[in-house]
Amino acid sequence: MKCPKCQATVTLNQLIKSFFKPTQCQACANSIVVTLSIKRGALLLLPVAATLFLVKPLAFQWQVDATFLNAFILFLYGISCLTVRSA
Ligand SMILES: [Zn+2]
Repeated sequence: MKCPKCQATVTLNQLIKSFFKPTQCQACANSIVVTLSIKRGALLLLPVAATLFLVKPLAFQWQVDATFLNAFILFLYGISCLTVRSA
């Protein structure tokens, strides 16, 4: 993820620190905060719902736990909805 002001890459450590709590970008000292993007969440909702619907037969075929796959997909969904914005 990148700083919205200077486009410098925000490190994972910074991302974790700035989770819903503003922190400073190391490159430009701009206040940044990681939030959930409602827009991206809405955009991804349909494909994620479709994937969850398809997981059951796939899980059966792969002989893995469907609950585990669902949790994994929802985890990826959550990560995908994260965005960095100026605080
Ligand atoms: Zn910056």
